[in-house]
Amino acid sequence: MLDDVLSSIAERACELLELWECDLYGWVAPEEEAACLAVWAREPDPGDAEWVGARLSLTQHPAFRRVLREGRIMAAYLDDPGLPQADRARMESWGERACLIVPLVFKGDVIGCLQLIEKRHARLFSARDRTLAATLAALAAVAIQNARLYEALEGLAITDGVTGLFNHRHFHDRLAAEVIRAKRFDLYLSLLMIDIDGFKAYNDRSGHPAGDALLRALGALLGGGTRAQIDVVARYGGDEFAVILPNTWASGAISAGERLRGAVARTPPVDGTQLTTRAAAGPQDSVQRGDSSAMAVAERIRTDIETAGFGSAEPPVITVSIGVAALGEHANSLESLIAIADKALYRAKRLGRNRVELADVHPD
Ligand code: GH3
Ligand code: MG
Repeated sequence: MLDDVLSSIAERACELLELWECDLYGWVAPEEEAACLAVWAREPDPGDAEWVGARLSLTQHPAFRRVLREGRIMAAYLDDPGLPQADRARMESWGERACLIVPLVFKGDVIGCLQLIEKRHARLFSARDRTLAATLAALAAVAIQNARLYEALEGLAITDGVTGLFNHRHFHDRLAAEVIRAKRFDLYLSLLMIDIDGFKAYNDRSGHPAGDALLRALGALLGGGTRAQIDVVARYGGDEFAVILPNTWASGAISAGERLRGAVARTPPVDGTQLTTRAAAGPQDSVQRGDSSAMAVAERIRTDIETAGFGSAEPPVITVSIGVAALGEHANSLESLIAIADKALYRAKRLGRNRVELADVHPD
């Protein structure tokens, strides 16, 4: 869509200014590069389409760098004796006789440039040419910025705000698509439902922000422990996560679940200082510093440790329970696949937590 808009702006620029070619570039600022966004030429080269998406280094293109840094229009003519050597070399290598480079400015920021090229003959750019080119550049800048905004919004709409994983809605959309694909092409498909054990207590002990940090750490661990670009890891809601495993049969899904469960149990807690020994002794107020009874000694030790801020010698171990279900073997639809994996998850909870349970065999 953006490609079409930019390419038609480039075409209009060539028509209005009677030029040979018009290219548009986006500034990739941290890398000091410009990425080609669109090319339109009266007689396109076979390589033009491939040039779109290519990046050129601004150190090798000082004219672009000047325009992008200074935000000013620049004209270059091959028969100008004062043309800097680097610009001359570049123009000669591309067969350019005259070129006009116009910054793309959006709300005061330079986001790229538009390059107008004449290859057929020498030509000077008039004040009218510059005004027209600047108007078209402003249009292109708005189109590019709108497309970037749309992309960012699309990303936000499918992302969970706490973990950065896919959210519930996107999980649902992806699972629906994977179920259709698996049925059509007779492929395996499995689902893991994962829930943190005792998360309520963790939140109570360590506070909600520490709970959020744990959710984020777990999200990163699940993302790192699954196949990039293949498996879909999502936050299903609360402390429950879901992992879609395409092309994976039940036994493979159990192995994946066991691997993840083990990795979680072995990972040191995000916040190991949250446990206190408060429950280990009686009421603090009743015990004086000079008291030598066992109770008083215990309480003194407890208070000293608490004041020093060490927390417990045994940080809490975070574990998860996992339910596994495979399409075809345990369920035949999206809804029942989720429900049956969830049921297996709750069996894992009932049987003691920190374990992986496979769904019962009974396709609906
Ligand atoms: P179980 O082992 O049975 O799963 O016990 P549990 O304590 O983990 O129980 P449950 O899964 O029902 O608890 C979910 C808790 O997750 C309750 C809620 O306070 C907490 N929670 C849900 N969403 C968030 C969140 O975004 N951030 C934080 N910090 N806590 C959340
Ligand atoms: Mg839980």
